[in-house]
Amino acid sequence: MEQTLVILKPSAIERNLIGEVIGRIEKRGLIICGIKMIQLDEAILREHYAHLADKPFFPLIVASMVASPVIVMCLKGIDAVKVFREMTGATNGRKAAPGTLRGDLCVSGQMNIVHASDSVENAKIELARFFKPEEIFDYTPAYFNFLYAEDEL
Ligand code: ADP
Repeated sequence: MEQTLVILKPSAIERNLIGEVIGRIEKRGLIICGIKMIQLDEAILREHYAHLADKPFFPLIVASMVASPVIVMCLKGIDAVKVFREMTGATNGRKAAPGTLRGDLCVSGQMNIVHASDSVENAKIELARFFKPEEIFDYTPAYFNFLYAEDEL
């Protein structure tokens, strides 16, 4: 089943939004199969945000992402990457649709509370960046047969 990486950024941790974001993930039906708190540093952020490392605002991204520990999670589900990316909403919280995490819980382009992998290929790379294989638990929760119909699996 597809897996995706989520980071609860310092803008979520510091604003006490951990429970709200995780609650929405649980209610939607994405399965949390890896979760831990870690401290990011510039080296890992240069890798993770390689596509932005040359931008003038990159030092601000680093500062905002090392400001407190973060929580990294592995979610699984059918089409988990797309489902969670759509739950996350547009990059800038002021432009994100109401109902999305960013559209409901933040008003900033940078302090935008969550990271969500943007493709299946990147999700694999990002999960390997933040998790050891043994930190991801491919278990089946008891309610699984009420998440999906038989012919979807
Ligand atoms: P997303 O997080 O929606 O996938 P990007 O990969 O484009 O978006 O950007 C990664 C993160 O870098 C954003 O979530 C945001 O925190 C920060 N960022 C992106 N663009 C800007 C910008 N113009 N100014 C400041 N921070 C930015």
